[in-house]
This record gives sequence, structure tokens and C-alpha cells, in this order.
Amino acid sequence: MVAAARLSSSRRETASVFDCQSCGACCSYSAEWPRFSTEDDAQLDRIPEQYVAADLSGMRCEGVRCSALSGEIGKSTACGIYELRPDVCRACMPGDAECLMARRAIGLPV
Ligand code: SF4
Ligand code: SF4
Repeated sequence: MVAAARLSSSRRETASVFDCQSCGACCSYSAEWPRFSTEDDAQLDRIPEQYVAADLSGMRCEGVRCSALSGEIGKSTACGIYELRPDVCRACMPGDAECLMARRAIGLPV
């Protein structure tokens, strides 16, 4: 889930169609999705323990849904650790291939 302000100019037109705060699809696509990758230890240490998977590989998920996601998918959602979210979450941009894949999977328009 990303903020519109972070979008690159090339994606701005597409992204204006999608509002992450009324979506949440990429945060509820797969338990394999919000994994830790390029974060350093200091970054990871700031993520509240209750949201971290038992094996420390990524975010704790309930089924396919990240435990830090609140709200109703496709209507109104928010990331509970937005400022601390993992790098993979920062990399996903509205309108990119991963975004479209996730939105399709839950039946949202692409
Ligand atoms: S799937 Fe796309 S529009 Fe939906 S929250 Fe993720 S980046 Fe935003
Ligand atoms: S940490 Fe936040 S942005 Fe990343 S998958 Fe979970 S709810 Fe989504």
C-alpha cells in the first residue's frame, strides 16, 4: 500500500484510478507477499512484534491477509504500520503489475 505522493510521474495517470485506502488488495493477496527482504535490522526492530511472523520471515498473516491491515478490503483499508512497512510494501505502486494482479484476484476493477 503506497501513498499517491510517492508515485512516479509515469504511473500517476493510471494510479489516479486506484485509491489504496479503498483497496488493500496487495495486503491481502498472499501470506508470501509481505516478506522481509532488503530491510536492515534497525528497520525491522521498529515493526511491532505482534505483526511479525513467528519465523521472522515477514509480516504475520491471517490466511492471506497481513495482520497489520485494518478495514474492509475493497472499501476502506489502512496499514497499521504505514511508516514502518517493509520494503516490498513500499515497492508496490498503484497500477503496477503486482497491484493489478492483486486487484484482479479479489475482483476489483483494473
Ligand atoms: S493493490 Fe494497488 S491500489 Fe490496492 S492497495 Fe495495493 S498498490 Fe494500492
Ligand atoms: S505491512 Fe502494511 S502495507 Fe505491508 S502488507 Fe501489511 S498492511 Fe499492507
